[in-house]
Amino acid sequence: MPSSSATVKLEYTLVDEIDKIYASLCHGFRSGKLKSIAYRKLQLLQLAYLLQDNIQRFKDAFAADLGRPSLETAFLELDSTISDCKIAYDGVEKWAKTEKAPFRINFTAFNPVIRKEPKGVVLIISPFNYPVWTAIGPMIGAIAAGNSVLLKPSELSSAVSGLIAELVPKYMDPDVVRVVLGAVPQATKLLQYPWGHILYTGSARVAKIVCAAAALTLSPVSVELGGKSPVVIDSKCDLMTAARRILWGKCVNAGQTCIAPDYILVPKEFEDTFVQALKDVHDEFYPNGTKGSSDFGHIVNAGHFARIKNLLDNTQGEIVFGGETNEAQLYIAPTVVKSVQKGDSLMSEELFGPVLPIVPVDNVDEAIEYINANDHPLALYVFSQDAAFKAKVFDNTQSGSAIANDVLVQCATDGLPFGGIGPSGSGYYGRKYTFDLFTHLRASLDSPSWLDRIFKSRYPPYTTKKEEF
Ligand code: NAD
Repeated sequence: MPSSSATVKLEYTLVDEIDKIYASLCHGFRSGKLKSIAYRKLQLLQLAYLLQDNIQRFKDAFAADLGRPSLETAFLELDSTISDCKIAYDGVEKWAKTEKAPFRINFTAFNPVIRKEPKGVVLIISPFNYPVWTAIGPMIGAIAAGNSVLLKPSELSSAVSGLIAELVPKYMDPDVVRVVLGAVPQATKLLQYPWGHILYTGSARVAKIVCAAAALTLSPVSVELGGKSPVVIDSKCDLMTAARRILWGKCVNAGQTCIAPDYILVPKEFEDTFVQALKDVHDEFYPNGTKGSSDFGHIVNAGHFARIKNLLDNTQGEIVFGGETNEAQLYIAPTVVKSVQKGDSLMSEELFGPVLPIVPVDNVDEAIEYINANDHPLALYVFSQDAAFKAKVFDNTQSGSAIANDVLVQCATDGLPFGGIGPSGSGYYGRKYTFDLFTHLRASLDSPSWLDRIFKSRYPPYTTKKEEF
């Protein structure tokens, strides 16, 4: 049995305590201490230290929850989140600066400006698969924007969530950040309060519950979801680079990545060549296989293991390599399945595991038609050396992001917004965009009395003379 999350028992926050926690965050926000940029920066620094001082404990917690190799934990979550703290620390003065409205001769005397103000007390609900990046990541932008934050991390990644809950009170001001541990009862209670903003990351099923609850309190909400992110292969691609990047994107975190390549659309006549390249890369990555390998993670729990295994057991496609599973170890081998038809079990839902279906198509038009017949994905990948091919796919589809010749890197690229479209999510974040998400653009102006000499025609009585003016 792996040291799975089942072995780390979380002590859930008592539902009856949540009123007090919410009230203390409201009090903290109203105290005004977060108005000071210097204070926000101090909290951002503390957040970076929370991670930096405890790197090994986080690596151990990720290993317990997901069997995550330590290097994956470092570059997928810890390094990038610490770096995001630094970006916010360095950027917050500029980001928070009041902006002048564009010059318009008619309105310039009003001195119109846009004040960048916090939304208030915000709620972050995060999933199990990237339990630092999806929890601490948004917190960075929320604090930079001057909000108080309540985090409800996933109960499934219990070791990481427990560690965050232990460390937050040690590093962060309790007026500014609090953590509520728990599952549906705690989340349901939290959703009864009005929030400055709710950022929910997770499944579409729960997103509907969150949005319905947010509607009752008129809390603004952003949902970061998942779905089936396709990869369109052109026979004119750099074959081995494509195979390496795709298989890597499918295998990190054992495939439990919201923007993992979910399935491949490949020209029929190129399918065998592409599948052979994937097999060669698999042997190159894992010369001794993946079972018991410290380079490959496991599925988060028995429920998700059974779900993926069931999809695999019911496929009509041909397993090229992999297929081995072990429930006690929550292990599913990297598995490539070829000749998968569009109605196959593997095409019925987001796989969220290390299983890669290959769907042969006649041409790129058929690939585009299939993508458009389904929910807009969170990411869309194209591997091609032909500019016209890439442009054709991007220009004729919709998705959260559109990436050529690589996978996953879009969420780490500073300056790019991260988010879905339609069923894969709404709202986007990432560094400055997270600051914007949690910022209210407060329109403001100061109208001088002398303006009435020019604009007094706005006052009744509305005479014909005024109308002619
Ligand atoms: P999930 O929806 O099961 O859980 C997410 C969070 O919602 C957890 O904190 C959970 O406790 C909470 N929750 C569960 N039931 C709830 C309820 N009734 N009311 C309120 N909250 C409730 O998601 P998961 O399985 O942890 O995550 C996997 C999904 O997340 C995948 O679909 C993946 O693609 C998506 N994801 C998206 C992103 C992104 O940035 N777009 C990132 C990571 C994961």
